Amino acid sequence: MADKIPNKNLGQKNNNASNTIRSALFIFIMICFGMLLISSLNQGDKQKTEVPISDVIRRANDPDGDIAKITVTGQNLEITLKGKDTPTEVSRKDGSGTLYDQGLKNHCLDLEGEELKECEEKYPVIEYKEDNNVWGIVLDVALTVLPIVALVVFFSWMMKQATSANNQSMAFGKSRAKLYGPDKKKVTFKDVAGNESAKQDLTEIVDFLKSPKKYEKLGAKIPRGVLLAGDPGTGKTLMARAVAGEANVPFFSISGSEFAEMFVGVGASRVRDLFSKAKKNAPSIIFIDEIDAVAHKRDARGGAGREDEQTLNQILVEMDGFDNDSGVIVMAATNRVDMLDKALLRPGRFDRHVNVTLPERKDRLEILKVHFKGKPVEADVDLESLAKKTAGSSGADLANIANEAAITAAREGHKAISNHDVTEAFERVAIGPERKSKVMNEKERKITAYHEAGHAIVGHVLPDSDPVHKVTIIPRGQTGGVTWFLPPEDRNYKNIYELKDVLARAMGGRMAEKLVFGTDAVTTGASSDLKNVAALAKSMIIEEGMGVGLRNIVFPGEETGYYTITTGKPYSEKTAELIDAEIKKLSDEAAKRAEEVLKANKTTLDKLAAELLAHETLEEAELAPILKSAKLPTNAKLH
Ligand code: ADP
Ligand code: MG
Ligand code: ZN
Repeated sequence: MADKIPNKNLGQKNNNASNTIRSALFIFIMICFGMLLISSLNQGDKQKTEVPISDVIRRANDPDGDIAKITVTGQNLEITLKGKDTPTEVSRKDGSGTLYDQGLKNHCLDLEGEELKECEEKYPVIEYKEDNNVWGIVLDVALTVLPIVALVVFFSWMMKQATSANNQSMAFGKSRAKLYGPDKKKVTFKDVAGNESAKQDLTEIVDFLKSPKKYEKLGAKIPRGVLLAGDPGTGKTLMARAVAGEANVPFFSISGSEFAEMFVGVGASRVRDLFSKAKKNAPSIIFIDEIDAVAHKRDARGGAGREDEQTLNQILVEMDGFDNDSGVIVMAATNRVDMLDKALLRPGRFDRHVNVTLPERKDRLEILKVHFKGKPVEADVDLESLAKKTAGSSGADLANIANEAAITAAREGHKAISNHDVTEAFERVAIGPERKSKVMNEKERKITAYHEAGHAIVGHVLPDSDPVHKVTIIPRGQTGGVTWFLPPEDRNYKNIYELKDVLARAMGGRMAEKLVFGTDAVTTGASSDLKNVAALAKSMIIEEGMGVGLRNIVFPGEETGYYTITTGKPYSEKTAELIDAEIKKLSDEAAKRAEEVLKANKTTLDKLAAELLAHETLEEAELAPILKSAKLPTNAKLH
């Protein structure tokens, strides 16, 4: 989801570009306007009638034609009729050729004396006047040259864009690092909501950059490498830019994934270039975003590519080569510290770690406030409740919701963002847009209603499950309907009972279908539920040690780098079978519990399904009276 957020860096660049375009456009318009003025002045007397050139040629070739004289000035023709003293008509040559090129016959060419005189009386005299109208020349030249100039300017601008937009073919060996000097629009810690402890750690770095002398005098080693670690979208990139903004130093940033696309040898040379630029501009910050792309464990997955290894080695060489007073601090960000090559984490390299975490409720509220600031919102917008509903969301997700809310409001033609727009945006970001157009037939609607009612009742009744917040049978994204559970508070740990209740309520959908429509009425509506069950049950067994026979033992997967295809699983086939059996046991138990709950509450199930069919969406307040009658049967109890 983080990728959907328009990056602030990008916005800034576009701004500059659009400024250039705007001023170029302004100049262009002024020139066009000027030319119009000139050409209208040039035409002078408006009494003269404009006639097409073909007409002029036809009349001039006619022995009984009415034209006495044609005066040619550059492209312009002035036509004097027989018996008149002054020109009364005007015309323009078609293209650059002469009048003869355009079909005029020279009837009197070989004649002399009387014959010539007679001829000249019948046919018009052609008089060439020197084109001493400077403005006319300027106009002609401008008309030819301007498009070329415009093209050249446009292309060089395109090239510049392309280079700064990381087009590798154009900025070959050069570092594509973007520089955010102190003069660019600054990001400061104020723009980063929450994450107080990370900010505190980084304040120290800011201080190093601001007054390195203070530390040198005391013989303190200035940190060289700071690693920002945290989930995607938690604001690592934002945080790094804020450090640069706070310290007011140049910020050179490059992304590890850019290295990954490079040709052999280019990555390493780009690292050299990046570091030398940063040293020249010291004190400064080098920021390597997504460093895991180049610095994953060299032995994992059967050895990293040669190119990555060269790039990584070059980074290490450069960092080792720093003097204590170089004034350059290297920051890096990653979502996967566990995947990083250990060589990077040694003292003198990235030895400072700053954890950037997913925001808690009060931080989520702060982040939402940051992103709704400057947007017109109606009084009913309830950010507190949005913060409550978004447990587990990252800063980027929240920024995305704020943006979607504005888009929704604009699409609906609202003047300000309403709470309904915010709710719609939240659900859209979480699951996907409502598909109002998808028509479900009555049978499908009924199955969906029972399916969602099943989730809701099982979730409501089980003691360690979260409260039901909303149920809908309006299709959204890939799903036929949705049941939302509200996490009552942020929790970092879940106990085994809570997880088992999550498994059971996920099974509630399919079990309700089974109970009402029969054992064989298996629909595809539950496939994502079943996937979730499989994934959660697996992680409970192999990561959390929650199996019955495998309690307190974990089995790291291949993706952790703990083993590779070549080394094979670090446990026997027999253990693998045991793991599968434990996973099946968990999902069977969940299905059984869901079924027992629904059997014991069949009347409530029917009632809820009927209400859903009637109203499509039920909120917490409307659900409460229906769910009140539901009870937990003893055979579904765990403790
Ligand atoms: P990461 O680098 O960790 O993947 P980013 O720094 O790119 O995340 O964050 C993406 C966007 O999410 C930011 O540009 C910002 O709009 C928003 N965001 C993330 N965390 C925060 C925060 N703590 N405060 C304000 N905005 C945030
Ligand atoms: Mg990032
Ligand atoms: Zn479901």
